[in-house]
Amino acid sequence: MFGNPIYFDLRRSLTAHRGKLLFGAGTGTPVHAAAFIRQRTVVLETGLLSEAERLRLVLIHEVFHFVWVRLNNCQRRDFADLLIDEMRGRARGEMGESSGLKKQLVQDRASLGLSSRLWRDYVCESFCDSAAALYSGVAANEHFTLAERWAKRRYQWLLRIGEQGWKC
Ligand SMILES: [Zn+2]
Repeated sequence: MFGNPIYFDLRRSLTAHRGKLLFGAGTGTPVHAAAFIRQRTVVLETGLLSEAERLRLVLIHEVFHFVWVRLNNCQRRDFADLLIDEMRGRARGEMGESSGLKKQLVQDRASLGLSSRLWRDYVCESFCDSAAALYSGVAANEHFTLAERWAKRRYQWLLRIGEQGWKC
């Protein structure tokens, strides 16, 4: 992995509320982490420090948000095509919590086109979760619900595209 430094900021009681990240405010939905691409900063919730596996998954996931914006359009479209193939093959499940939630939303609104914001968000989260699953060394997790044959196709794709390293 190569690129400019990424800064990590640890905060207690992280929540998302009306599109904003709050610290210790007591309102909003609890979140583990958030990536701020332009500021090159990842904010992590301190509770993660006591959960080694989850910390690895979340940390790699967030760093891959920086990788995603460095991929070229062709690579991003290629990954999206993998997901379209999965949907045509009626693949259920995902490789993480964020992508699992987005996939549910995408499927609930099947009328949405592939150019919708929701679809693009899903593809990005799926990319980050798949990379986290592959590189974290975590073999099993409650949120790894995608069948192995589909997961393997994603890993092969990631290993091929990331062969020369990932730019972040
Ligand atoms: Zn994410």
